[in-house]
Amino acid sequence: MIEEIEQLKREKNAVILAHNYQRAEVQDIAEFVGDSLELARRAMDTSAEIVVFCGVDFMAETAAILNPDKKVLIPDAGAICPMAQQLHADELMAMKRKYPDAEVVLYVNTLAASKALADCICTSANAREVVNAMSSSTVIFGPDRNLAYYVQKATDKTVIPVPQHGLCPSHHQIVLSDVLRAKEAHPDAKVVVHPECIPEVQDIADYIASTSGMVRICKAHDSGDEFLIGTEIGLLHRLNKEAPAKKFFPISNTAVCPQMKMHTLENIALALEKEEPVVSVPPEIAARARRAIERMFTI
Ligand code: SF4
Repeated sequence: MIEEIEQLKREKNAVILAHNYQRAEVQDIAEFVGDSLELARRAMDTSAEIVVFCGVDFMAETAAILNPDKKVLIPDAGAICPMAQQLHADELMAMKRKYPDAEVVLYVNTLAASKALADCICTSANAREVVNAMSSSTVIFGPDRNLAYYVQKATDKTVIPVPQHGLCPSHHQIVLSDVLRAKEAHPDAKVVVHPECIPEVQDIADYIASTSGMVRICKAHDSGDEFLIGTEIGLLHRLNKEAPAKKFFPISNTAVCPQMKMHTLENIALALEKEEPVVSVPPEIAARARRAIERMFTI
C-alpha cells in the first residue's frame, strides 16, 4: 500500500500533508506533519499540483482557499470537525450587532462561510499575537471557549466568546482528575497541554501551546525528561519519533479525535488514484475568507 501511494505521488506530482493528530502510519507517509498553521503555509509553499490533505474539513478548506490553482483532496470527506460546526452565522451576526466596535477573530477551526465574516483568523499557535494586534479593545472570539479563556488571560483585551459553549469534544475528555492522577504517577514530569483544554487543566499546566509548539517545548528539554501530554493522543507518535530519549505519557487515553482518524492508507491511495474527493469553496466566500486568513499571516 505504501509503495502504491509513493508511486501515485510521483506520477501525479502530489504531496501529502498530515496533521499531528493523524494515525501513525499516515504521519509516516506524509511529506510534512504539523499543526494547522504550518500545514496552511506548507500547502502554499509546495510546487505540487495535488495536495492530499490528511486533516479535517476546515483545514482542507483553508488549503483550498489559499491554493486556488492546486487540486486539494481530502481522503475521507466525512472528516468533519464538530467544533467548526458549532459556530452559526446568525449567532455571530447577533454578537456583531451587540458589540459593533469589536473586531471578530475566529479560530481557524471554523468553516469557510464563517471565516468570510471574520476580521482576522488565528490558530492556537498565534491566537495571543493576533488578538493583541486588533485595534478594538473588545474582541469577539469563536468558536472555542477554552481558547478564548487562554486568550483572555494572555492579553489585555475584553474577549467575548461566541458561541457561549464552543468546545472540542476530544480535548473535553481531559479533566483535572486525569492530570492529578498522572502527576501522582509521574511526579517529575512537566505538564504540557493544548489551549483547547478546559480552564482547570490549563491552570495546572507548566506549558500551554499548539501541537507543534508542544513538540518544540518538549524537544528543548534535557534528554531523559518526562512529560504529561494533554492533547489528542496522535501527537504522542510524533513526540516519540522526534524525541526518543524522552518519556511521554498521555494525560487521558480517551482524548481521541475520531474525525482525524478517518484517513487511512487505503483511502489515501484511492483518493490519489481517482483524484477525489476534491475540496472546493465558492469563489465569493473564498475571497472574503482569504482576506481574513491573509491578515493573520501579515500579523
Ligand atoms: S481535535 Fe477537536 S478541534 Fe481538532 S479536529 Fe478533532 S474535534 Fe475538531
